[in-house]
Amino acid sequence: MEIDVAKVRHETPGCARVAHLNNAGAALPPSPVIEAVAQHLELEAMTGGYEAAEENQAAIERFYDAVAGLIGARRDEIAYVENATRAWDMAFYGIRFAPGERVLTTTSEYSSNAIAYRQRGVRVDVVPDGPDGTIDLDALDTELRRGGVRLVSLNHVPTSNGLVNPVADVGRLCRAAGALFLLDACQSVGQLPVDVGEIGCDLLSSTGRKYLRGPRGTGFLYARRDVLSEIEPPFLDNAAADWHAPDRYEIRPDARRYETWERYVAGQIGLGVAADYATRLGIDAITARIDVLASRLRAELASRPGVTVHDRGVLRAGIVTFTVDGRTPAEIVKAARARDVNVNVSEPRGHGYDPDAEEAVVRASVHYYNDEEEIERLLSVL
Ligand SMILES: *Cc1c(COP(=O)(O)O)cnc(C)c1O
Repeated sequence: MEIDVAKVRHETPGCARVAHLNNAGAALPPSPVIEAVAQHLELEAMTGGYEAAEENQAAIERFYDAVAGLIGARRDEIAYVENATRAWDMAFYGIRFAPGERVLTTTSEYSSNAIAYRQRGVRVDVVPDGPDGTIDLDALDTELRRGGVRLVSLNHVPTSNGLVNPVADVGRLCRAAGALFLLDACQSVGQLPVDVGEIGCDLLSSTGRKYLRGPRGTGFLYARRDVLSEIEPPFLDNAAADWHAPDRYEIRPDARRYETWERYVAGQIGLGVAADYATRLGIDAITARIDVLASRLRAELASRPGVTVHDRGVLRAGIVTFTVDGRTPAEIVKAARARDVNVNVSEPRGHGYDPDAEEAVVRASVHYYNDEEEIERLLSVL
């Protein structure tokens, strides 16, 4: 089934005001998400926070089924976390490294993750890119065979490039080598099919506000059932663990060990609604529509003199990066904003493992609710 563009635009109040091509930053939420969050905040204000949670218990619990359903997981493998970085941290900082054990990642690794590797002082080897810019699977295989790899940690889609990493192949190699696989799926959940069984990752983090169109300040962690017990959360509270006073505590057996008791409850409800909304539209239909828009934008950009498209990868997602001769990315963003078109700048300092990332680029990230007129509007700015 195809996306009914008129309908999804009607259900996205922000479409009446802006051409929002910054979905890799934070997408416009659809009405059901806005209403669910507002309804819960209202209920908290009128009846009390604890009482509101009791009343909306079903919607809070629905979050786990909605997210699990979207990525092919079980509900007890999902933790609600305040953003993707903290979700990723709860997994990464819980992994015990023996002396000398290594992490393998890619050139496009997200900067916060790279900072965490440094903080923990683990050895990181950056697997080179293949000719198309995605991870070179032969090089990964060679590194895995060299031994000593505890963790392979990479993104499905990087934060500022259209490329899509071949994650199912990575998963297959990791399983064969007995290495843990932590997938940063921030830019793929909500825009591409993400099935943890097919991918074969052990851990996966994602955020609410990007392609999932959920509220800001929300995210989640998936942890496969049989790795959960070996990955101890770096922080525990009285919901993640039971206190047997005074000396003992017992950590929850399921993924909620990575949660905190206190949380943005309205956000959890809203994120569940966003996951259900994506599932209802159909991920394949979403992917197909994004591909039409992103391909069109790339083709139009590439046909213009002085414009360079920077996306790599054979398979490309909704993130379109480019530069324009004689104009800085910041100038383009400002000119676009003046016409109510939202795009943003991606700075090279976010890509410290990539020897080729030297210049800032404009990042235009399309979603299925964008339309051709909005793409034209961006092009007219150039
Ligand atoms: C946005 C992003 C993150 C961080 O997500 P937050 O929710 O802001 O913590 C991590 N990795 C990638 C690839 C991202 O694009």
